[in-house]
Amino acid sequence: MRVLLVEDEKKVASFIHSGLREEGYAVDVTYDGQDGLDLAESNEYDIIILDLMLPGRGGLDVLEKLRLDQILTPVLVLTAKDSIQDKIRGLDMGCDDYLTKPFSFDELLARMRALFRRCQERADAKLRVADLVLDPASHKVIRAGKRVDLTAKEYALLEYLMRNAGRVLSRVQIAEHVWDIDFDTFTNVIDVHVNHLRRKIDGEHDQKVIHTVRGMGYKIENQ
Ligand code: CA
Repeated sequence: MRVLLVEDEKKVASFIHSGLREEGYAVDVTYDGQDGLDLAESNEYDIIILDLMLPGRGGLDVLEKLRLDQILTPVLVLTAKDSIQDKIRGLDMGCDDYLTKPFSFDELLARMRALFRRCQERADAKLRVADLVLDPASHKVIRAGKRVDLTAKEYALLEYLMRNAGRVLSRVQIAEHVWDIDFDTFTNVIDVHVNHLRRKIDGEHDQKVIHTVRGMGYKIENQ
């Protein structure tokens, strides 16, 4: 298991770091929020342990940016005891959890394992919008009980839309996440693929799920 630890209190960081290393985890440590974000976006971690009060960039801000960028690594937030309610507002409890300082190392380990398990199950769970079902485990897409054949790009595009169902995704976001390209030169590519996808998914169905939001982008939603 590879762990990213973002914690600016050096004592706490070194206590967690050495404990995890003894347990056989590979651990990267940073004391800065922006560094943490950069590391999380450029490496594959199994879990991220994230303090909230950080120099560079706050923990919740880091978490929000990660999710926006479709990085679904489980995040365990470390927080001081006061104003917990306030602080957990930004957390999606499926793939995130929080731990109040001070905590015991055993508790940290137990929370990490539970969170990791929960997030694994969720990553494999089927996505649904109306009668459209996408199975991330088998890459099968079903609309109204019938299998829909998609190209790899169309599938990736649909999965991205469905993981963000109800949310408008800009062409820039889609370009970065599905194509991994610079948006400027490829505007058309996205529109063309969305149109293909729309033909296959919505086609002759009365209920349309893929929507264009003028001037903003696209979203998938049960309307
Ligand atoms: Ca801190």
